[in-house]
Amino acid sequence: KKEDLAMSATPADDGDDVAITHPERVVFAKKKLSKGDVADYYRQMARWILPEISGRPLSLLRCPDGVGKACFFQKHHGQGLGDAVHAVPLQQKSGREDYVYIDDERGLLQLVQMNTLELHPWGATVADPEHPDRLVFDLDPGEGVSWADVKRGARDVRDRLQQTGLQSFVRLSGGKGVHVVVPLQPAADWDDAKAFCEAFAQAMAEQAPDRYVATMSKAKRSGVIFIDWLRNTRGATSVCSWSLRARESAGVAVPLRWEELARVSAADAFPMDKALARAKRLKADPWQGIDALKQTLPTLQR
Ligand code: ATP
Ligand code: MN
Ligand code: MN
Repeated sequence: KKEDLAMSATPADDGDDVAITHPERVVFAKKKLSKGDVADYYRQMARWILPEISGRPLSLLRCPDGVGKACFFQKHHGQGLGDAVHAVPLQQKSGREDYVYIDDERGLLQLVQMNTLELHPWGATVADPEHPDRLVFDLDPGEGVSWADVKRGARDVRDRLQQTGLQSFVRLSGGKGVHVVVPLQPAADWDDAKAFCEAFAQAMAEQAPDRYVATMSKAKRSGVIFIDWLRNTRGATSVCSWSLRARESAGVAVPLRWEELARVSAADAFPMDKALARAKRLKADPWQGIDALKQTLPTLQR
């Protein structure tokens, strides 16, 4: 009887019983990392990743044959994802559609079992999908932009946000650029968030046109950074902190303290093993305090 109680008291959400099939299957060929390695990574990182994605609509990047092969984005819920991968109906132009969300380690591992490599949450929760609680300024460097200039751009965004009264947080994308993330009290709607972010990016591009662009049509221009504000529209996503990236470098999207940015040499400076080592060394969340901030969208100065 006592043992039974102890058994039933084990958290049901730890994902230990999620079977990972074909753990030997190669995912990152150059890095010699398998599906089993990916599952181990997400298992070990669950305590850091779950707060970033739990209870948020998610887009998944699934790569059944590994990186460099066909990968696909999935945002809709479907059969066979697992019992801890939930559906949330969200209104779209064509009607209500079921989106994916999870809220525990079991769900995370079931996504991994379905060959999910990247996790891309909304900047809003399932509980309140119409009011963003995270904005993301996605800095996309064009050809020929140095890493030093990318870092300068991130600090520039931070300083300008500060001038509007907003504190922000930085993460390496694990690819080429960085993301500057602004926590909000969910109050403003997506239209207001989008308008603010567009105006903010445009102001930067107007004041330093040799360094920044804010329009999609100029995004690929060489020598400048595209301040991609379009992550802040309803239904848009950004990769979450600690997600693996489906690139040969196996870079991880790593959150940093602002002071740490100076010492980092590239947006993909933390491949899986280095990201794991970093997480193990961490004494506190690099984004400590993000959820305690009570910030709201400033009114637009047009
Ligand atoms: P990088 O630093 O290399 O730009 P990134 O993650 O910022 O890496 P982007 O291409 O700038 O990559 O995309 C930003 C975000 O937009 C992604 O993290 C993803 O959530 C979303 N996104 C981009 N392309 C797609 C797509 N084809 N389908 C769905 N979402 C996408
Ligand atoms: Mn980007
Ligand atoms: Mn982008």
